[in-house]
Amino acid sequence: MSAEQGGPADAVPNPPTSLDPDDWTALRADAHRMLDDMIDHIAQVRERPVWQPLPDDVRARFSAALPRGETPLGEVYADFTDAIAPYATGNVHPGFMGWVHGGGTAVGMLAEMLAAGLNANCGGRNHVGIEVERQIVRWVRELFGFPDTASGVFVTGSSMANFMALLVARAAALGPQVREGGLAGEPLTAYASAAAHGCVVQAADLAGLGRGAMRRIPFDAAHRIDIAALRRRIAEDRAAGFRPFLVTGSAGTVDTGAIDDLAALAQLCRDEALWFHIDGAYGSLGMLSPEIAPKLAGLSEADSIALDFHKWGQVNYDAGFLIVRDGEQHRATFAAPAAYLRRETRGLAGGSPWPCDFGPDLSRGFRALKTWFTLKTYGTERLGAMIAQTCAIARHLEARVRREPQLELLAPVTLNIVCFRYRAQSGMDADALNAEMVADLHESGMAAPSATTIDGHLAIRAAIVNHRTTYEDVDRMVDAVLKFGAARTG
Ligand SMILES: *Cc1c(COP(=O)(O)O)cnc(C)c1O
Repeated sequence: MSAEQGGPADAVPNPPTSLDPDDWTALRADAHRMLDDMIDHIAQVRERPVWQPLPDDVRARFSAALPRGETPLGEVYADFTDAIAPYATGNVHPGFMGWVHGGGTAVGMLAEMLAAGLNANCGGRNHVGIEVERQIVRWVRELFGFPDTASGVFVTGSSMANFMALLVARAAALGPQVREGGLAGEPLTAYASAAAHGCVVQAADLAGLGRGAMRRIPFDAAHRIDIAALRRRIAEDRAAGFRPFLVTGSAGTVDTGAIDDLAALAQLCRDEALWFHIDGAYGSLGMLSPEIAPKLAGLSEADSIALDFHKWGQVNYDAGFLIVRDGEQHRATFAAPAAYLRRETRGLAGGSPWPCDFGPDLSRGFRALKTWFTLKTYGTERLGAMIAQTCAIARHLEARVRREPQLELLAPVTLNIVCFRYRAQSGMDADALNAEMVADLHESGMAAPSATTIDGHLAIRAAIVNHRTTYEDVDRMVDAVLKFGAARTG
């Protein structure tokens, strides 16, 4: 398919309405420059600040009116290089430790470009994009110890996957008629730790159960759901006429990385006949590491798991995923019954069930390809070692925090997240001080941790997710914290 070989694209003139270039050679030159520049951008990420604020004049460029005429690609690209590329989130940078963001890879970027070239619509039909996604489903089953009857589907992220899992659990509890008749006053209740991600509560809201239907159960000193309190609350709800249907366990909470006792939750759900879902957004991929996997004991017993390849898996955004043990239950929650029965058995319209039968999206891109490239290129051993390494760096940071008299650890370190703060002098507002210091760090361009609240205290949270982050990077971050802390309190 090279230019030298020639091809139909070179030989046949474009119809006037086509958006293809008249000069493929010029496009090829632009394309190679963009690719080279972006590879440099990633390779030289350390030489730039983690993050920098968008200057007002740059921001103003995005207020220009809808373009009516054409602009040469080179000029549009020049806008990208000076107004867009320098002001991204920063999560490609090894100094980015905020929230729980993956770092992505150049391999994932290339796969994303190839997927865009194919421009496959992976909602359905009989083509290889669907088969690649099915292979990922098989790989996730294998990784999690799920049966061959389990189904899976790519989605934007775990917010969507947690929501969809709640809908599957709801249809399992009430029967498929809930899809026609709605809740009809059924007083459904669901359960999750008070440390669960906000999207777990949001799922109950979106599904029409109301946020209050997601009972937020207290957690223990290790930030794990209090199983006895959970049992009590379920019994109280049943006695009061509610209908418990779902427990969501956390495999890596977003604030501290705590892992609920998943085996105990699995047992409780069996005893109580409840759907056992796991929000494994980032932590479930700890299964890739033989060192981390034992912490996730019980994960394989879940009815469904939400996960993000775009966090610890380092797949470029976005690549969320939902796996459901009972694939038929999953399909029965989303497949449009009439359309499903009309499906062809041969031709391009054959080969169902399709991803659109397992979620609300019809048209959808080829997220599976960048995930497939990432898993094949690096292999699970290397990815698992990278995940274990982020945890080792977090333990190094924890030890450093414990050694520094000015710093205080605010939560136990289970995986790769360290929550700490700078000690304020008496009479000083420690929360305000630490919040200012987080912003100081961001604006310094040196490191970007985030802030969260632990036991009512504002914490500096460093989540080591990026595969590029080193021991030196976290030491530099601590040095900067000590410097800014001294400057603000001195
Ligand atoms: C990131 C995260 C989510 C939300 O996932 P998105 O991919 O951002 O939608 C949910 N739960 C946990 C524990 C997370 O870390």
